[in-house]
Amino acid sequence: MLMKSSDPILDFIPVKLIIFGILNHKPKQMFNLILFGPPGSGKGTQSEKLISQYGFKHLSTGDILRSEIANQTELGLKAKSYMDAGQLVPDAVVIGMVGSAIAANPGVSGFLFDGFPRTKAQAEALDQLLASHGEKIDLVLAMEVPEEELVQRMIGRSKTSGRTDDADPEVQKKRIAVYKNETLAVADHYSQFDRVVTLNGLGSIDDIFSSLCKEIDAKKG
Ligand code: AMP
Repeated sequence: MLMKSSDPILDFIPVKLIIFGILNHKPKQMFNLILFGPPGSGKGTQSEKLISQYGFKHLSTGDILRSEIANQTELGLKAKSYMDAGQLVPDAVVIGMVGSAIAANPGVSGFLFDGFPRTKAQAEALDQLLASHGEKIDLVLAMEVPEEELVQRMIGRSKTSGRTDDADPEVQKKRIAVYKNETLAVADHYSQFDRVVTLNGLGSIDDIFSSLCKEIDAKKG
């Protein structure tokens, strides 16, 4: 109810409505997405398409680590031995990187997390980081691809990307094992909040992209 004020100017209805609007203005929420799946499931390819469709800010920990290696930074040198062996870079390192990237990008319409989080501890840290900005993960799109196909895709990718972790069969096996033993827990973590949608990651790039978009559009409303 609009009350009578002591200042006559405030008795104008439009002034009161403007003040009411300012007091009730909520900043626009972000839409934050995790593109989830084993190594070789197509996260990088689909991320590029989703970014141009929705304008997400892409946050790929693998890409950031590779650029640290290329620039021969201390962080890159530390990370390289883990990556070459198909092991995970320690949680504290990647969580620190993601925290800086989130803080460096205020005002984006949403983040697309690609290759992060990869452990339950990373997922919990991400939730806390986002919560400190009043945000959360809205959707986890999990792409399922059979193991034999993952290996074929990694071999194919290694020919153009030059990624040694894609070319070596021992490293491929290790990365798939790490996914099963440590990373699948991330999907369990978000399932408890009902935020995971599982999709078939086999098929044409465009068909998979369409099914990802369908889920995003349904969630965004
Ligand atoms: P990707 O490009 O996502 O396949 O990542 C390549 C490699 O970078 C992985 O095999 C890990 O060694 C490392 N890496 C990328 N993201 C993470 C992460 N979130 N946690 C730990 N290690 C990571």
